[in-house]
Amino acid sequence: MIYKVISKPEFRKFIDTLVKANTAFGPRQVDTDHHGEPVYQFMPVGSADDIAFDYTKTHSSAKHFFLPFREEISHFTFRDGDWEQQIRYEARPVVLIGLRPCDIRAVNILDDVMLHGPYPSPYYLARRKNTFIIGMDHLPLPDCFCKSMNRHTVSYGFNLFCSDIGDKFYLSINSSKAFGFLKEFETGDPTPEDDCLLIERRKLIKQSFRTDVEVTGLPCFLDIEFESPIWEKWGQRCLNCGTCAMVCPTCYCYSVEEHFDTDLKGSSRRNRLYSCNLVDFAEVAGGHNFRPKNSDRLKYRYYHHYRGFAANDNQQICVGCNRCGRACLTGINPKDVINDLRLERESCMTCVSPSRNRT
Ligand code: SF4
Ligand code: SF4
Repeated sequence: MIYKVISKPEFRKFIDTLVKANTAFGPRQVDTDHHGEPVYQFMPVGSADDIAFDYTKTHSSAKHFFLPFREEISHFTFRDGDWEQQIRYEARPVVLIGLRPCDIRAVNILDDVMLHGPYPSPYYLARRKNTFIIGMDHLPLPDCFCKSMNRHTVSYGFNLFCSDIGDKFYLSINSSKAFGFLKEFETGDPTPEDDCLLIERRKLIKQSFRTDVEVTGLPCFLDIEFESPIWEKWGQRCLNCGTCAMVCPTCYCYSVEEHFDTDLKGSSRRNRLYSCNLVDFAEVAGGHNFRPKNSDRLKYRYYHHYRGFAANDNQQICVGCNRCGRACLTGINPKDVINDLRLERESCMTCVSPSRNRT
């Protein structure tokens, strides 16, 4: 990693040049919500002026740049009693600007799943290799809990990361490409004062979290709580809409579908992102559904995020962005569900507490 500082006007010039020469996406205000708050999304940008550098949150995550909602994975052509398969892995180079540390940590988790397993995805790899990521730090929102998940900082998975230290950005340069782009612009080596400002900035971010979710020992805890009535309580509220999985930066489950041309001369095999909260997610041929109840499906999503990966890969795949909590129409969110489980266990523990005097 190489560290540099750049003045904010010079940084703007750098971004302007970069987005004018490349296909680029960054946070833009697309609407206003019913409270009058701006709604931001990662959208195409043509100049630095298009980018809302001070955006609060995007409802949808950056995962769709790597895992599109729908994609054709191969196309078949049937001719003269034979068939031919065409597969395309190409992806155009893209610059992604303004990802938060937890969003980059989410991309790193997707890398582990899509690239570091026994069957790496060439489709994902093509997009990932062609994406230039510029991360930016921010002060947490009241409902962010990425510090609880230890995902509020990031040290890899980006090309360039910018920390706001007042009238300059402190740059962490993590690729030769980023270093090459920056050569054309006026940057300097960080002074001891810049280093102090960076440390102060990190301290401020750490102290600004207002939501805490107790995840210590959560995987074991979830094992114990498999039959808890809490799953039924929250499951009853679930509409099985799948929105939580669509907005989640680390949900990657998908279905594979075949679409035949009406003249039967060709067909297309497509991936479609799916959600374990959808009613038919665990339905198999013959109509049997392994998770017929809302509570089973909701529980499965929580076990996938907070238990399964911890056991198999020594990490939980929730990064604490709370996009699922914000998007859920019935107010189901990780903080309340996990705290509810813990509260239930704590109240249960009072019956075995040794605090009462025995005669
Ligand atoms: S938890 Fe909420 S967002 Fe997710 S499927 Fe249920 S109702 Fe929809
Ligand atoms: S808070 Fe919700 S949306 Fe964000 S990573 Fe965790 S499960 Fe996914």
